[in-house]
Amino acid sequence: MQGLLNDWRRTHYANQHNPEIAGSDVTIMGWVHEIRDFGGIMFVIIRDVTGRVQVTAPSKKVDEDVLKQLRDLRKESVVAIKGAVQESAKAPNGVEIIPKEVKVLNMADQPLPMDPTEKVKAGIDTRLDSRFLDIRKENVSAIFKIKGQMFHTIRDFFYDNGFYEINTPKLVASATEGGTELFPIAYFEKEAFLGQSPQLYKQMMMGAGMDKVFEIGQIFRAEEHDTLRHLNEAVSIDAEASFADDEDVMKILNDMIIQVLNDVNENCANELEILGHELEVPSGDFPVVTYDDAVDIVNMAGVEMQWGEDLSREAEKALGEEMGGFYFLTKWPAEIKPFYVMPFEDDEKYAHAFDLMYNNLELSSGATRVHQYNLLVKQIEEKGLNPDGFGSYLTAFKYGMPPHAGWGVGADRLTMVLTGSQNIRECVLFPRDRHRLTP
Ligand code: ATP
Ligand code: MG
Repeated sequence: MQGLLNDWRRTHYANQHNPEIAGSDVTIMGWVHEIRDFGGIMFVIIRDVTGRVQVTAPSKKVDEDVLKQLRDLRKESVVAIKGAVQESAKAPNGVEIIPKEVKVLNMADQPLPMDPTEKVKAGIDTRLDSRFLDIRKENVSAIFKIKGQMFHTIRDFFYDNGFYEINTPKLVASATEGGTELFPIAYFEKEAFLGQSPQLYKQMMMGAGMDKVFEIGQIFRAEEHDTLRHLNEAVSIDAEASFADDEDVMKILNDMIIQVLNDVNENCANELEILGHELEVPSGDFPVVTYDDAVDIVNMAGVEMQWGEDLSREAEKALGEEMGGFYFLTKWPAEIKPFYVMPFEDDEKYAHAFDLMYNNLELSSGATRVHQYNLLVKQIEEKGLNPDGFGSYLTAFKYGMPPHAGWGVGADRLTMVLTGSQNIRECVLFPRDRHRLTP
Protein backbone atom coordinates (compact mmCIF):
# COMPACT_ATOMS: atom_id res chain seq x y z
CA MET A 1 0.00 0.00 0.00
CA GLN A 2 1.27 3.48 -0.83
CA GLY A 3 1.45 6.47 1.45
CA LEU A 4 2.08 4.72 4.77
CA LEU A 5 4.43 6.17 7.37
CA ASN A 6 5.96 2.80 8.18
CA ASP A 7 9.09 3.54 10.21
CA TRP A 8 9.41 7.15 9.05
CA ARG A 9 9.01 9.73 11.79
CA ARG A 10 9.52 13.49 11.80
CA THR A 11 12.74 14.61 13.47
CA HIS A 12 12.30 18.38 13.04
CA TYR A 13 9.51 20.86 12.54
CA ALA A 14 10.06 23.59 9.95
CA ASN A 15 10.86 26.21 12.58
CA GLN A 16 13.55 24.02 14.13
CA HIS A 17 15.77 24.50 11.08
CA ASN A 18 18.61 26.95 11.64
CA PRO A 19 22.34 27.14 10.97
CA GLU A 20 23.05 25.38 14.27
CA ILE A 21 21.83 22.07 12.85
CA ALA A 22 23.72 22.44 9.56
CA GLY A 23 25.39 19.15 8.66
CA SER A 24 22.80 16.93 10.32
CA ASP A 25 20.25 14.68 8.66
CA VAL A 26 16.58 15.48 9.21
CA THR A 27 13.19 14.06 8.36
CA ILE A 28 10.50 16.66 7.74
CA MET A 29 6.79 16.12 7.10
CA GLY A 30 4.28 18.56 5.76
CA TRP A 31 2.51 20.09 2.77
CA VAL A 32 4.02 21.14 -0.54
CA HIS A 33 3.62 24.89 -0.37
CA GLU A 34 5.41 25.75 -3.56
CA ILE A 35 7.48 24.12 -6.31
CA ARG A 36 9.93 26.06 -8.46
CA ASP A 37 11.73 24.06 -11.15
CA PHE A 38 14.59 25.81 -12.99
CA GLY A 39 15.81 22.67 -14.76
CA GLY A 40 19.24 22.53 -13.20
CA ILE A 41 17.92 23.24 -9.73
CA MET A 42 14.59 22.76 -8.04
CA PHE A 43 13.14 24.39 -4.92
CA VAL A 44 10.31 22.83 -2.98
CA ILE A 45 8.91 24.71 0.00
CA ILE A 46 7.49 22.43 2.69
CA ARG A 47 5.03 23.84 5.19
CA ASP A 48 3.98 22.44 8.56
CA VAL A 49 2.16 23.82 11.57
CA THR A 50 5.22 25.82 12.62
CA GLY A 51 6.14 27.46 9.32
CA ARG A 52 8.09 26.67 6.16
CA VAL A 53 11.43 25.21 5.17
CA GLN A 54 13.14 25.09 1.80
CA VAL A 55 14.20 21.87 0.10
CA THR A 56 16.84 22.56 -2.56
CA ALA A 57 17.55 19.93 -5.19
CA PRO A 58 20.43 20.71 -7.60
CA SER A 59 20.27 18.05 -10.34
CA LYS A 60 24.00 17.42 -10.08
CA LYS A 61 23.86 16.57 -6.38
CA VAL A 62 20.53 14.77 -6.05
CA ASP A 63 19.53 11.26 -7.12
CA GLU A 64 17.60 11.00 -10.39
CA ASP A 65 14.77 9.05 -8.64
CA VAL A 66 14.40 11.75 -6.00
CA LEU A 67 14.38 14.48 -8.66
CA LYS A 68 11.64 12.69 -10.55
CA GLN A 69 9.55 12.32 -7.37
CA LEU A 70 9.92 16.03 -6.64
CA ARG A 71 9.09 16.95 -10.22
CA ASP A 72 5.87 14.88 -10.08
CA LEU A 73 4.67 16.51 -6.84
CA ARG A 74 1.51 18.56 -6.90
CA LYS A 75 0.94 21.57 -4.68
CA GLU A 76 -0.59 20.88 -1.25
CA SER A 77 0.32 17.19 -1.36
CA VAL A 78 1.55 15.68 1.90
CA VAL A 79 5.14 14.49 1.84
CA ALA A 80 7.97 13.30 4.05
CA ILE A 81 11.51 14.17 3.06
CA LYS A 82 14.80 12.94 4.44
CA GLY A 83 17.82 15.04 3.71
CA ALA A 84 20.90 16.89 4.91
CA VAL A 85 20.73 20.41 6.30
CA GLN A 86 23.05 22.87 4.67
CA GLU A 87 23.69 26.53 5.38
CA SER A 88 22.37 28.91 2.79
CA ALA A 89 22.39 32.66 3.06
CA LYS A 90 19.51 32.98 0.59
CA ALA A 91 17.13 30.45 2.14
CA PRO A 92 14.48 31.73 4.58
CA ASN A 93 15.85 30.20 7.84
CA GLY A 94 19.49 30.46 6.77
CA VAL A 95 19.43 26.77 5.87
CA GLU A 96 18.07 24.47 3.19
CA ILE A 97 17.61 20.72 2.98
CA ILE A 98 19.33 18.70 0.27
CA PRO A 99 16.93 15.77 -0.23
CA LYS A 100 18.03 12.15 -0.10
CA GLU A 101 14.69 10.33 0.04
CA VAL A 102 11.12 11.41 -0.66
CA LYS A 103 7.95 9.67 0.48
CA VAL A 104 4.65 10.89 -0.91
CA LEU A 105 2.11 10.35 1.87
CA ASN A 106 -0.87 11.70 -0.04
CA MET A 107 -1.01 13.41 -3.43
CA ALA A 108 -3.41 16.38 -3.63
CA ASP A 109 -5.86 16.67 -6.52
CA GLN A 110 -5.72 19.64 -8.88
CA PRO A 111 -7.06 22.21 -9.31
CA LEU A 112 -7.44 23.19 -5.65
CA PRO A 113 -10.81 24.66 -4.61
CA MET A 114 -8.87 27.65 -3.31
CA ASP A 115 -5.25 28.73 -3.20
CA PRO A 116 -3.74 28.55 0.30
CA THR A 117 -0.72 30.57 -0.83
CA GLU A 118 -3.12 33.47 -1.54
CA LYS A 119 -1.73 34.33 -4.93
CA VAL A 120 -5.40 34.37 -5.81
CA LYS A 121 -7.40 36.14 -3.06
CA ALA A 122 -10.65 34.46 -2.09
CA GLY A 123 -13.72 35.99 -0.46
CA ILE A 124 -14.90 34.89 2.98
CA ASP A 125 -17.59 32.55 1.58
CA THR A 126 -15.19 30.69 -0.70
CA ARG A 127 -12.76 30.47 2.17
CA LEU A 128 -15.32 29.09 4.60
CA ASP A 129 -16.51 26.57 2.00
CA SER A 130 -12.96 25.19 1.87
CA ARG A 131 -12.12 25.94 5.47
CA PHE A 132 -9.57 23.11 5.81
CA LEU A 133 -7.53 24.69 3.01
CA ASP A 134 -8.11 28.20 4.33
CA ILE A 135 -6.72 27.27 7.75
CA ARG A 136 -3.49 26.10 6.08
CA LYS A 137 -2.73 29.81 5.61
CA GLU A 138 -0.53 31.11 8.39
CA ASN A 139 -2.60 34.25 8.90
CA VAL A 140 -5.67 32.09 9.47
CA SER A 141 -4.12 29.40 11.68
CA ALA A 142 -2.53 32.24 13.70
CA ILE A 143 -6.03 33.22 14.85
CA PHE A 144 -6.74 29.73 16.18
CA LYS A 145 -3.34 29.44 17.82
CA ILE A 146 -4.07 32.67 19.69
CA LYS A 147 -7.56 31.43 20.54
CA GLY A 148 -6.00 28.25 21.94
CA GLN A 149 -3.65 30.31 24.11
CA MET A 150 -6.64 32.31 25.31
CA PHE A 151 -8.47 29.17 26.49
CA HIS A 152 -5.28 27.82 28.06
CA THR A 153 -4.76 31.01 30.08
CA ILE A 154 -8.41 31.23 31.05
CA ARG A 155 -8.48 27.64 32.35
CA ASP A 156 -5.23 28.23 34.25
CA PHE A 157 -6.63 31.44 35.67
CA PHE A 158 -9.81 29.78 36.91
CA TYR A 159 -8.02 26.78 38.41
CA ASP A 160 -5.51 29.07 40.13
CA ASN A 161 -8.36 31.08 41.63
CA GLY A 162 -10.34 28.19 43.07
CA PHE A 163 -13.00 27.76 40.38
CA TYR A 164 -14.32 24.29 39.53
CA GLU A 165 -14.90 23.49 35.87
CA ILE A 166 -18.41 22.25 35.12
CA ASN A 167 -20.44 21.07 32.13
CA THR A 168 -24.13 21.79 31.97
CA PRO A 169 -26.77 20.41 29.56
CA LYS A 170 -27.22 21.95 26.15
CA LEU A 171 -30.50 20.11 25.59
CA VAL A 172 -33.01 22.01 27.68
CA ALA A 173 -36.75 21.97 28.30
CA SER A 174 -37.36 25.71 28.41
CA ALA A 175 -35.91 29.11 27.76
CA THR A 176 -33.25 30.59 30.06
CA GLU A 177 -34.64 34.06 29.90
CA GLY A 178 -37.98 33.38 28.30
CA GLY A 179 -36.80 34.95 25.07
CA THR A 180 -37.79 33.85 21.64
CA GLU A 181 -34.22 33.31 20.52
CA LEU A 182 -34.30 29.55 20.91
CA PHE A 183 -33.78 26.70 18.49
CA PRO A 184 -36.54 24.14 19.01
CA ILE A 185 -35.58 20.51 18.46
CA ALA A 186 -37.52 17.25 18.38
CA TYR A 187 -36.74 15.39 21.61
CA PHE A 188 -38.55 12.05 21.27
CA GLU A 189 -42.23 12.90 21.73
CA LYS A 190 -41.54 16.28 23.33
CA GLU A 191 -40.27 19.63 22.18
CA ALA A 192 -36.93 20.72 23.59
CA PHE A 193 -34.47 23.52 22.83
CA LEU A 194 -30.78 24.10 22.41
CA GLY A 195 -29.43 25.99 25.42
CA GLN A 196 -28.90 29.72 24.92
CA SER A 197 -26.85 30.09 28.13
CA PRO A 198 -25.72 27.99 31.13
CA GLN A 199 -27.06 30.78 33.37
CA LEU A 200 -29.68 28.86 35.34
CA TYR A 201 -27.46 25.80 35.80
CA LYS A 202 -24.42 27.69 37.03
CA GLN A 203 -26.66 29.49 39.54
CA MET A 204 -28.01 26.13 40.72
CA MET A 205 -24.39 25.11 41.35
CA MET A 206 -24.16 27.99 43.82
CA GLY A 207 -27.11 26.44 45.67
CA ALA A 208 -25.31 23.11 45.38
CA GLY A 209 -22.44 24.54 47.43
CA MET A 210 -19.81 24.47 44.64
CA ASP A 211 -18.76 28.02 45.65
CA LYS A 212 -17.09 29.08 42.38
CA VAL A 213 -17.62 27.45 39.00
CA PHE A 214 -16.82 28.08 35.36
CA GLU A 215 -17.86 26.57 32.08
CA ILE A 216 -16.55 26.95 28.57
CA GLY A 217 -19.25 25.74 26.25
CA GLN A 218 -21.46 26.27 23.24
CA ILE A 219 -24.47 28.57 23.35
CA PHE A 220 -27.15 28.59 20.67
CA ARG A 221 -29.18 31.63 19.72
CA ALA A 222 -31.82 31.72 17.00
CA GLU A 223 -31.40 35.44 16.52
CA GLU A 224 -32.07 36.31 12.91
CA HIS A 225 -29.45 39.03 12.81
CA ASP A 226 -26.73 38.92 10.24
CA THR A 227 -23.91 40.97 11.74
CA LEU A 228 -20.13 40.81 11.99
CA ARG A 229 -20.34 40.04 15.73
CA HIS A 230 -23.19 37.52 16.08
CA LEU A 231 -23.32 33.84 15.23
CA ASN A 232 -26.07 31.34 15.91
CA GLU A 233 -23.64 29.05 17.67
CA ALA A 234 -21.00 30.69 19.86
CA VAL A 235 -18.72 29.70 22.71
CA SER A 236 -19.33 31.30 26.06
CA ILE A 237 -16.94 31.48 28.99
CA ASP A 238 -19.19 31.54 32.02
CA ALA A 239 -18.24 32.14 35.64
CA GLU A 240 -20.29 32.26 38.82
CA ALA A 241 -19.06 32.89 42.37
CA SER A 242 -20.81 32.60 45.75
CA PHE A 243 -20.62 35.16 48.56
CA ALA A 244 -19.63 37.73 45.94
CA ASP A 245 -21.23 40.74 44.25
CA ASP A 246 -20.95 42.50 40.90
CA GLU A 247 -17.80 44.41 41.88
CA ASP A 248 -16.06 41.23 43.03
CA VAL A 249 -16.70 39.44 39.75
CA MET A 250 -15.79 42.51 37.68
CA LYS A 251 -12.40 42.39 39.37
CA ILE A 252 -12.05 38.70 38.50
CA LEU A 253 -12.98 39.42 34.87
CA ASN A 254 -10.60 42.37 34.71
CA ASP A 255 -7.69 40.28 36.05
CA MET A 256 -8.48 37.40 33.72
CA ILE A 257 -8.49 39.64 30.62
CA ILE A 258 -5.16 41.20 31.60
CA GLN A 259 -3.62 37.78 32.08
CA VAL A 260 -4.90 36.69 28.66
CA LEU A 261 -3.41 39.80 27.03
CA ASN A 262 -0.07 39.28 28.74
CA ASP A 263 0.11 35.59 27.85
CA VAL A 264 -0.85 36.18 24.22
CA ASN A 265 1.81 38.87 23.94
CA GLU A 266 4.37 36.59 25.52
CA ASN A 267 3.56 33.28 23.85
CA CYS A 268 2.04 34.31 20.52
CA ALA A 269 4.43 37.07 19.41
CA ASN A 270 4.96 35.30 16.09
CA GLU A 271 1.22 34.96 15.44
CA LEU A 272 0.59 38.61 16.31
CA GLU A 273 3.33 39.61 13.91
CA ILE A 274 1.84 37.47 11.14
CA LEU A 275 -1.49 39.21 11.76
CA GLY A 276 0.15 42.64 11.97
CA HIS A 277 -1.67 43.17 15.23
CA GLU A 278 -0.41 44.86 18.36
CA LEU A 279 -1.99 44.16 21.73
CA GLU A 280 -1.87 46.91 24.26
CA VAL A 281 -2.18 45.79 27.86
CA PRO A 282 -4.01 48.29 30.06
CA SER A 283 -2.47 48.75 33.46
CA GLY A 284 -4.71 47.98 36.41
CA ASP A 285 -8.45 48.48 36.54
CA PHE A 286 -10.53 49.13 33.45
CA PRO A 287 -12.40 52.44 33.47
CA VAL A 288 -16.04 52.37 34.51
CA VAL A 289 -18.88 54.37 33.00
CA THR A 290 -22.40 54.22 34.39
CA TYR A 291 -25.36 53.71 32.11
CA ASP A 292 -26.61 57.20 33.01
CA ASP A 293 -23.34 58.79 31.91
CA ALA A 294 -23.31 56.62 28.80
CA VAL A 295 -26.72 58.00 27.79
CA ASP A 296 -25.31 61.53 28.08
CA ILE A 297 -22.16 60.68 26.14
CA VAL A 298 -24.17 59.08 23.36
CA ASN A 299 -26.59 62.02 23.10
CA MET A 300 -23.74 64.53 23.17
CA ALA A 301 -22.21 62.67 20.26
CA GLY A 302 -25.40 63.35 18.32
CA VAL A 303 -26.90 59.87 18.56
CA GLU A 304 -30.38 59.93 20.05
CA MET A 305 -30.93 57.64 23.01
CA GLN A 306 -33.63 57.69 25.69
CA TRP A 307 -32.97 56.59 29.26
CA GLY A 308 -34.16 53.00 29.62
CA GLU A 309 -33.28 51.87 26.11
CA ASP A 310 -30.66 49.29 25.29
CA LEU A 311 -27.73 50.71 23.33
CA SER A 312 -28.32 50.74 19.60
CA ARG A 313 -25.42 49.91 17.32
CA GLU A 314 -24.89 53.65 16.72
CA ALA A 315 -24.95 54.29 20.47
CA GLU A 316 -22.33 51.56 21.04
CA LYS A 317 -20.15 53.19 18.39
CA ALA A 318 -20.49 56.66 19.91
CA LEU A 319 -19.68 55.33 23.37
CA GLY A 320 -16.75 53.27 22.08
CA GLU A 321 -15.38 56.35 20.36
CA GLU A 322 -15.42 58.27 23.64
CA MET A 323 -14.21 55.50 25.97
CA GLY A 324 -11.80 53.46 23.80
CA GLY A 325 -10.25 50.13 24.78
CA PHE A 326 -11.67 48.01 27.60
CA TYR A 327 -14.24 49.58 29.92
CA PHE A 328 -17.14 48.53 32.12
CA LEU A 329 -20.64 49.86 31.62
CA THR A 330 -22.46 49.65 34.96
CA LYS A 331 -25.67 50.41 36.84
CA TRP A 332 -28.11 49.44 34.09
CA PRO A 333 -31.86 50.08 34.20
CA ALA A 334 -33.40 46.95 35.73
CA GLU A 335 -36.09 46.93 33.09
CA ILE A 336 -33.77 45.93 30.24
CA LYS A 337 -31.85 43.33 32.24
CA PRO A 338 -33.00 39.73 32.86
CA PHE A 339 -35.15 38.67 35.84
CA TYR A 340 -32.23 37.10 37.72
CA VAL A 341 -30.40 40.44 38.10
CA MET A 342 -30.32 42.09 41.56
CA PRO A 343 -31.94 45.55 41.79
CA PHE A 344 -30.34 48.34 43.81
CA GLU A 345 -31.65 48.27 47.35
CA ASP A 346 -32.27 52.02 47.50
CA ASP A 347 -33.43 52.52 43.92
CA GLU A 348 -35.08 49.60 42.19
CA LYS A 349 -34.95 51.27 38.77
CA TYR A 350 -31.31 50.30 38.64
CA ALA A 351 -29.73 46.86 38.59
CA HIS A 352 -26.37 45.57 39.77
CA ALA A 353 -25.54 44.65 36.19
CA PHE A 354 -22.53 45.43 34.04
CA ASP A 355 -21.19 44.89 30.55
CA LEU A 356 -17.54 44.69 29.62
CA MET A 357 -16.93 46.52 26.36
CA TYR A 358 -13.95 46.82 24.03
CA ASN A 359 -14.42 49.95 21.94
CA ASN A 360 -17.90 49.39 20.55
CA LEU A 361 -17.98 45.62 21.00
CA GLU A 362 -19.81 44.01 23.91
CA LEU A 363 -17.59 41.24 25.31
CA SER A 364 -19.44 40.28 28.45
CA SER A 365 -22.54 40.78 30.55
CA GLY A 366 -22.62 40.08 34.26
CA ALA A 367 -24.40 40.95 37.48
CA THR A 368 -25.10 40.31 41.09
CA ARG A 369 -27.91 37.73 41.00
CA VAL A 370 -31.10 37.63 42.98
CA HIS A 371 -30.74 34.85 45.56
CA GLN A 372 -34.03 35.40 47.45
CA TYR A 373 -36.85 33.12 46.29
CA ASN A 374 -39.70 35.63 46.68
CA LEU A 375 -37.92 38.42 44.87
CA LEU A 376 -36.97 36.06 42.06
CA VAL A 377 -40.57 34.91 41.58
CA LYS A 378 -41.71 38.54 41.61
CA GLN A 379 -39.15 39.52 38.96
CA ILE A 380 -40.02 36.54 36.76
CA GLU A 381 -43.67 37.64 36.86
CA GLU A 382 -42.78 41.27 36.18
CA LYS A 383 -41.02 40.18 32.99
CA GLY A 384 -44.27 38.59 31.89
CA LEU A 385 -42.97 35.05 32.40
CA ASN A 386 -44.62 32.17 34.20
CA PRO A 387 -42.76 30.93 37.30
CA ASP A 388 -44.18 27.43 36.66
CA GLY A 389 -41.79 27.19 33.74
CA PHE A 390 -38.83 27.57 36.11
CA GLY A 391 -39.74 24.84 38.59
CA SER A 392 -36.46 23.03 39.25
CA TYR A 393 -34.45 26.25 39.04
CA LEU A 394 -36.69 28.05 41.53
CA THR A 395 -36.66 25.13 43.98
CA ALA A 396 -32.91 25.56 44.35
CA PHE A 397 -33.59 29.01 45.84
CA LYS A 398 -35.81 27.71 48.65
CA TYR A 399 -33.35 25.57 50.53
CA GLY A 400 -30.22 27.62 51.07
CA MET A 401 -29.03 29.69 48.12
CA PRO A 402 -26.03 31.92 48.91
CA PRO A 403 -25.65 35.47 47.53
CA HIS A 404 -23.76 35.18 44.26
CA ALA A 405 -22.65 36.97 41.10
CA GLY A 406 -21.20 36.06 37.73
CA TRP A 407 -20.69 36.81 34.07
CA GLY A 408 -20.46 35.34 30.59
CA VAL A 409 -17.82 36.32 28.03
CA GLY A 410 -18.18 35.57 24.34
CA ALA A 411 -15.02 33.61 23.53
CA ASP A 412 -15.26 34.30 19.82
CA ARG A 413 -15.68 38.02 20.43
CA LEU A 414 -12.72 38.10 22.76
CA THR A 415 -10.73 36.36 20.02
CA MET A 416 -11.71 39.20 17.65
CA VAL A 417 -10.06 41.65 20.05
CA LEU A 418 -6.96 39.50 20.52
CA THR A 419 -6.44 39.03 16.78
CA GLY A 420 -7.73 42.34 15.43
CA SER A 421 -10.43 40.57 13.39
CA GLN A 422 -13.40 42.62 12.20
CA ASN A 423 -15.64 39.63 11.43
CA ILE A 424 -16.49 37.04 14.10
CA ARG A 425 -16.54 34.38 11.35
CA GLU A 426 -12.75 34.72 11.12
CA CYS A 427 -12.50 33.56 14.74
CA VAL A 428 -14.61 30.40 14.54
CA LEU A 429 -13.42 27.27 12.75
CA PHE A 430 -16.80 26.39 11.26
CA PRO A 431 -19.14 29.33 11.86
CA ARG A 432 -22.90 28.89 12.01
CA ASP A 433 -24.86 31.88 10.78
CA ARG A 434 -28.22 32.53 9.15
CA HIS A 435 -26.91 31.26 5.83
CA ARG A 436 -24.33 28.68 6.77
CA LEU A 437 -24.70 25.22 8.28
CA THR A 438 -21.84 23.50 6.45
CA PRO A 439 -19.06 22.53 6.56
P1 ATP B 1 -25.52 41.54 22.00
O1 ATP B 1 -26.27 42.65 22.68
O2 ATP B 1 -24.18 41.96 21.47
O3 ATP B 1 -26.36 40.79 21.02
P2 ATP B 1 -26.20 39.98 24.31
O4 ATP B 1 -26.31 41.04 25.34
O5 ATP B 1 -27.45 39.48 23.66
O6 ATP B 1 -25.18 40.46 23.16
P3 ATP B 1 -25.49 38.15 26.38
O7 ATP B 1 -26.75 37.39 26.52
O8 ATP B 1 -25.21 39.23 27.35
O9 ATP B 1 -25.41 38.73 24.91
O10 ATP B 1 -24.30 37.08 26.31
C1 ATP B 1 -23.03 37.24 26.95
C2 ATP B 1 -21.91 37.38 25.92
O11 ATP B 1 -21.95 36.31 24.98
C3 ATP B 1 -22.03 38.63 25.06
O12 ATP B 1 -21.50 39.74 25.72
C4 ATP B 1 -21.23 38.24 23.85
O13 ATP B 1 -19.84 38.39 24.07
C5 ATP B 1 -21.53 36.75 23.71
N1 ATP B 1 -22.61 36.53 22.73
C6 ATP B 1 -23.92 36.64 22.94
N2 ATP B 1 -24.61 36.36 21.85
C7 ATP B 1 -23.73 36.06 20.89
C8 ATP B 1 -23.83 35.69 19.51
N3 ATP B 1 -25.02 35.55 18.93
N4 ATP B 1 -22.69 35.45 18.83
C9 ATP B 1 -21.50 35.57 19.45
N5 ATP B 1 -21.33 35.91 20.72
C10 ATP B 1 -22.42 36.17 21.45
MG1 MG C 1 -25.33 41.28 27.10
